[in-house]
Amino acid sequence: MTVPLIDPFQRPISYLRVSVTDRCDFRCVYCMSENMTFLPKKELLTLEELDRMCSTFVRLGVEKLRITGGEPLVRREIMTFFRSMTRHLESGALKELTLTTNGSQLERFADDLYAAGVRRVNISLDTLDEEKFADITRWGRLPQVLRGIDAAQKAGLRVKINTVALKGFNEDELVTLTEWCASRDMDLTWIEVMPMGDIGNEDRLGQYWKLDDLRQSYAQQYTLSDLPENTGGPARYVRLEETGQKIGFITPLTHNFCESCNRVRLTCTGELFMCLGQEDNADLRGALRNHPGNDAPLEEAIRGAIRLKPKGHDFDYSRQSVDGRVSRHMSHTGG
Ligand code: SAM
Ligand code: SF4
Repeated sequence: MTVPLIDPFQRPISYLRVSVTDRCDFRCVYCMSENMTFLPKKELLTLEELDRMCSTFVRLGVEKLRITGGEPLVRREIMTFFRSMTRHLESGALKELTLTTNGSQLERFADDLYAAGVRRVNISLDTLDEEKFADITRWGRLPQVLRGIDAAQKAGLRVKINTVALKGFNEDELVTLTEWCASRDMDLTWIEVMPMGDIGNEDRLGQYWKLDDLRQSYAQQYTLSDLPENTGGPARYVRLEETGQKIGFITPLTHNFCESCNRVRLTCTGELFMCLGQEDNADLRGALRNHPGNDAPLEEAIRGAIRLKPKGHDFDYSRQSVDGRVSRHMSHTGG
């Protein structure tokens, strides 16, 4: 029997997030600079290598795969990869195959994703105002994303909206966004902006909207009940009695969530990051490419990496400077 992946702090690793590309059709101001240099194609894991990599993790006990990026749906032939993961859902080894997307390509792919076994998607959307949307994403257009959301729901996918909480930008849309999500039976999760990557001149402390403050704003408008749910990640949830909807708060900076962390992240070049907030990583691509047809070295490299998973991250805004800053972009590790 395969020994499951357990890290040095006795946390079982059952969740893998995979970035399948560093490219994107948007340039969100908190995520990328306008002129990004992307990786040459040969650096990327091929779709076959992604399959081998993910299948190995599944064999070692990973039950949930989240595909992300960059924008996962701009990777060429990405549906081939999704379809290749269907066999793990059918065997029961994989419990969930899901993705995080900006929604721009969903009109094209929602039905195929459902057919491949995807049942839920997280769609990132920070504003319902067309002009503000174009400002924050630089290259994105709101109507295209709204059509993508329609297509996803029509295909039968459950949609959760992820919104980055940005001071002075979408503070005034708290109720609008909440009611819009409620009217479409979508949950909503707010994410605190994290200090990742060089993104030009943006002032991160200026962007930082503490989710404790946001929670208080909710409490002024709605009756909140805390939900005990713990997904092993940084999200905490409340239910709004008035709308019945679930609101999530991802607060990696305000609260430490590391004690129950069950996840690791694979980049599109095959580096495994054991913690979103640390630079430590392990190269799995070598173990994969140098041993075609033999997964034993890859399994050993994965086990070795998990043994190095740190206890937690060091992001800290409390001293009014951005400490614990990580130089890579979110699009590299996958959000
Ligand atoms: N392109 C897809 C999307 O936007 O959903 C997937 C990748 S994106 C990097 C994943 C998530 O990370 C998005 O919800 C995005 O808003 C979030 N994100 C990107 N940069 C961030 C940052 N610096 N702080 C907090 N969240 C960030
Ligand atoms: Fe692209 Fe997502 Fe980053 Fe926006 S947040 S630039 S959509 S990867």
